[in-house]
Amino acid sequence: MKAAILCVGTELLFGQTVNTNATYISRQLQLLGFDVLYHHVVGDNPIRLERLIDICFEDCDLIITTGGLGPTEDDLTKEVIAKFVGDELVYDEVSLAGMKKYFSDTHRQMTKNNLKQALFPSKGKIFPNNVGTAPGFLSENDGKYIIALPGPPREMTTMFEKEIIPYLSERENAVLYYKIIRTYGIGESVLETVLMPLIHGQTDPTIATYAKEGECSLRVTSKRGTIEESKSAVEDMMVKIRNLIGEYIYSEDDEDMAEVLVKELNEKNLQLSSAESCTGGLFAGRITGVAGASKMFGRGYVTYSIESKVEDLGVDNLLIEKYSVVSGEVASEMAVKALEKSGSDVAVSVTGVAGPSDEGDIPAGKIYLGISWKDDRGNVKTKVQLMNSGRHDRKKNREYAVLAMMHMVLKLVRSL
Ligand code: ATP
Ligand code: MG
Repeated sequence: MKAAILCVGTELLFGQTVNTNATYISRQLQLLGFDVLYHHVVGDNPIRLERLIDICFEDCDLIITTGGLGPTEDDLTKEVIAKFVGDELVYDEVSLAGMKKYFSDTHRQMTKNNLKQALFPSKGKIFPNNVGTAPGFLSENDGKYIIALPGPPREMTTMFEKEIIPYLSERENAVLYYKIIRTYGIGESVLETVLMPLIHGQTDPTIATYAKEGECSLRVTSKRGTIEESKSAVEDMMVKIRNLIGEYIYSEDDEDMAEVLVKELNEKNLQLSSAESCTGGLFAGRITGVAGASKMFGRGYVTYSIESKVEDLGVDNLLIEKYSVVSGEVASEMAVKALEKSGSDVAVSVTGVAGPSDEGDIPAGKIYLGISWKDDRGNVKTKVQLMNSGRHDRKKNREYAVLAMMHMVLKLVRSL
């Protein structure tokens, strides 16, 4: 099957928005066994959009569009597609009800132009949008298909994962099975190099790598005659992958690190507390953002100032003066004190310079992490780790420090 990707949006032509949708969909379609022949970008212009649909259908069986499904005047994708396939737009009651509920649940005012988002071609199929307001849809044109997806990447990718992959793999008459593996501590290019013997020349299962914020994901996909065959092909590949990069894998089910941590601490009946300086509570926020955290999370100390480290945690001022507040000694002591004060089984700490500027002779991105726990004899143990990112990006330094803290705890918990 041959496919084309058609992205609608003047902001793409202006270069204001990077066309990440095309890259994402191309990768996905390739995994599903489609040949992608074209990427087109067009502004919010109905005549040029129609012309491109016409061109793509000359040699493609499937067109996927993104963007222009919204409520505003310049959102024209639906009108153009309906006209092209000779259909009319009618209100879809299910989408209308869903939209009303979305607005009332989020206490927002629904305006008249929002109604437009419940209009769809009368024939075909509608794909619900669980993370936004504009649903997607499919129209048929002489045995060929056009699928319209929303522009915002999060809405588009969620819809693709939840609706489009199952739909396309079913139509392809093969059963798709895939696993998403999350790794930490290995960069995308190293990951790809290590896995090259498996990736190279492989048609089924396929392996695709994705870099995310501070971590990398892998997707292993198989498409065979039955679900059992696809599953067993993926599992065989998983054995090889674990052999090569097992130490870096933290989830084989696409869970994020906070979810995994909460789950594993709960399973082992362990309680965690934190003492944070440069992340100011971000770690505690991330952990408590996961359902089920109430059982495993004890206390989150936000000790941003030196006084709070001394007064609230009980870190010795002399230690801070001797080694500086950004030091392994202070990180270690913060963790020990947090463990002692909270009575938790594990405590993790962080102190460093998030940036953007260096602080005196301490460069931005120099961050110490500490962890403290009791061994089976009841002796307090500690470990310290230095993260020297060399980065001046405050947001990234804080985010990556939180990830590193979570990973440090996860590693310990798995070894206990
Ligand atoms: P909305 O309901 O938000 O209006 P829409 O389906 O009409 O959704 P657009 O208005 O075309 O979509 O785009 C919404 C936003 O999604 C854009 O401002 C842009 O940030 C992002 N976006 C659109 N197309 C792409 C793309 N191809 N790649 C990356 N981001 C995109
Ligand atoms: Mg729009």
